[in-house]
Amino acid sequence: MTAPSLPGAPFLARQGDDLWLDGVRLADLAAEFGTPLYVYSRGAMRAAATAYQSALAGRRHLLCYAMKANSSLAVIKTFADLGLGFDIVSGGELARVIAAGGDPAKVVFSGVGKTRAEMTEALRAGVKCFNVESESELDTLSEVACALGRRAAVSLRVNPDVDARTHPYISTGLKDNKFGIAHERARQAYAHAAALPGLRVVGIDCHIGSQITEIAPYLDAVDRLLDLVEQVEADGIAIAHIDLGGGLGITYTDETPPAAGELVRALLARIDARGHGQRELLMEPGRSLVGNAGVLLTEVLVLKPSPEKNFAVVDAAMNDLVRPAMYQAWMGIAPLHLRTDGQANPPLSWDVVGPICESGDWLGRDRVLALQPGDLLAVLSAGAYGMTMASNYNTRPRAAEVMVDAGRAQLIRRRETVESLLRDELLPS
Ligand SMILES: *Cc1c(COP(=O)(O)O)cnc(C)c1O
Repeated sequence: MTAPSLPGAPFLARQGDDLWLDGVRLADLAAEFGTPLYVYSRGAMRAAATAYQSALAGRRHLLCYAMKANSSLAVIKTFADLGLGFDIVSGGELARVIAAGGDPAKVVFSGVGKTRAEMTEALRAGVKCFNVESESELDTLSEVACALGRRAAVSLRVNPDVDARTHPYISTGLKDNKFGIAHERARQAYAHAAALPGLRVVGIDCHIGSQITEIAPYLDAVDRLLDLVEQVEADGIAIAHIDLGGGLGITYTDETPPAAGELVRALLARIDARGHGQRELLMEPGRSLVGNAGVLLTEVLVLKPSPEKNFAVVDAAMNDLVRPAMYQAWMGIAPLHLRTDGQANPPLSWDVVGPICESGDWLGRDRVLALQPGDLLAVLSAGAYGMTMASNYNTRPRAAEVMVDAGRAQLIRRRETVESLLRDELLPS
């Protein structure tokens, strides 16, 4: 009846009949702030970052939180306070780092297409480096930097082409996708970068995919990267840092990814074995720092049982949390309160769906739950790629966000209003 904690989320636990996150009863937050509501545990985020940091202690390193996973200012501040840097993919994300008090000198700017305006802002802010993904981008960045009288620090994102057949993971590190510079063109690209007047080569990076649950593909990528470092340095171009990207998976249901510390220790061992231990090491974790720190609370609006299928319509929808609709992702769904008073409806298999006019608008399928209208549910592991992918589809204001920390709860984003959605629109004259 009572479980000490839910899979992968040590800060989430059932106490008696109620679900608690980091010392706060989630039903109390739903009552105070309404639903749909994102709730994050600050302690869980800190613990996730510390797991990487402890394993990297004693090394020259920079942990850059990939903030596209969850870019709320309070989340950025939480990681900035721990000394983390940030992996950004837009000028908007840079503005968030600055607004939250993060250090632009610890920012790496990734992304396959950056505008000149974004390059200019990042150069003015003094980011640590640009992760560049094409030779064409090298030319543009050099021009922009020269116009400002600066030199842009660059790392080249190399596509290590690690073998997906032996490692079946969601991949961005294979030849046939849009990311990175092909491994066999990388030497040429480095020579090109080194010859441009507005650039200064500082690193090499890769990012081989997301929700990776094995260490082996990372080790393959390290080997491919170090092969290149050795070739490029033999060509006379120094490479100060190695950036291994993000991608470590989390437990949504029964996945068993390595712990962050375990992954880092394996990477360091391989880097040392190849004699590169003196280099600064960067990593860009996103999901693994925030995914299991968050839940999305929602209320059951309507029950529609039928002989074919039972639908539970809730007040959160694909506009709030698109992962199930977009990736067929499985996310846990748990009641905030277990009815043990004998008043519960019998458990049935439900499709938990949102109110949006799309058949793809679902949060979970075939979930055995004892439900009645007005019940509150938590969608689990919703701290990553939840709020950042939210939209206003169906003119639905985006959810509020609350951060809890050892028994205290604080609103970190007010619920959006319909007025704010209409504010920037103009009627034709
Ligand atoms: C998305 C992304 C990350 C973070 O990926 P996770 O799977 O969330 O850890 C890191 N680096 C780059 C370049 C990315 O695009």
